[in-house]
Amino acid sequence: MMPNESAKRNKAKQKQKAQLAKAVSKEDAVKPEVAVDTATEVTNNLEALTIADNSAPSASSQTPTNPAIAANSMLEVVDIPGKGKGVVALVDIPSGTRIMKEAPYMIMTADIPSAVDARIKRALAELDDEHRSAFLSLHNANPSRPFPYWSTFDTNALPLGPNSPQGAIYPTVCYINHSCIPNANHCWNKNLKMETIHALRDIKKGEEITIAYILEGTRAERRVHVHERLGFECQCEACGAPDDEVAKSDERRRLITIFGARIGNPLRTVTIPLEVLKECVIFLSIVEEEFGEDTALSASAYTDCFQIAVCCGYAPGAKRFALRAYKCRVKVEGEDSPETIRMKEFSEDPSLHPAWDIF
Ligand SMILES: [Zn+2]
Repeated sequence: MMPNESAKRNKAKQKQKAQLAKAVSKEDAVKPEVAVDTATEVTNNLEALTIADNSAPSASSQTPTNPAIAANSMLEVVDIPGKGKGVVALVDIPSGTRIMKEAPYMIMTADIPSAVDARIKRALAELDDEHRSAFLSLHNANPSRPFPYWSTFDTNALPLGPNSPQGAIYPTVCYINHSCIPNANHCWNKNLKMETIHALRDIKKGEEITIAYILEGTRAERRVHVHERLGFECQCEACGAPDDEVAKSDERRRLITIFGARIGNPLRTVTIPLEVLKECVIFLSIVEEEFGEDTALSASAYTDCFQIAVCCGYAPGAKRFALRAYKCRVKVEGEDSPETIRMKEFSEDPSLHPAWDIF
């Protein structure tokens, strides 16, 4: 490379870093210019984004001192008309509370149905009577399908983390029903080797506790998925809303899918970081309008913003985004989740990240 070319490249890199530093330091600078009406509309409310919020998580988001006792006293499994069994709150549960943590009694790796069915049959023979009868009493959403053990597992299992090929069955968690606008978040905690359930908002005594098996897609798309997986037509708060509200929700979820794919593409993050940062801000606005503040989706978007700030070596922005991601994770996963711990460390020293200042 000629010396003057190297100087030009260095100058261009410095300019890009300066633009990024400016963008992550001031929300107004990342206002997007996207020709999508809804997106433009929501970005007019960027001030509502509390990106600069440095406050510690609220007391209500702390893990109960004795989760085992708390789990027993906070919920019960009951019959829910039209849904089979479900889980309801026995007390008022504040937002951010860890409702329960529970270890699975059966884990299976994805395979062809006949192979999974045979493995479950062998596993049932080795289980104690209590867990064997618990599994055999679970709902099978598609009893006409072959391989009934596999079909029951498919109806009730939760993945061991996002995109995991393994699914698990739990004594109580499996009775928590689906909602497209859930009041609780479920998460596999690798450190605890347990599924955790946290309240996403205040839950009233007597209210059903719900988690989401699927969040993306229009109401029609989600209903097909829920019917295939669980065997009923979803009548949750989001699906049962008036048609004009459903239309707005459908549009927001369509945009969440589009922007989620864009900001999840690492090649774009490296080549057009400023654009991706703008898209993260749009994504956050739409997610918070649809699902409320500080959800798992918000945590992922704040983590993406953090990574962009890390790549440009801008410590104040990186710390701020890491703190926001940490705060979301505490609420939806708890202080002991591996990702919460990681974001807490980065909020204190973002230069620990392997991509620090690579731009
Ligand atoms: Zn629904």
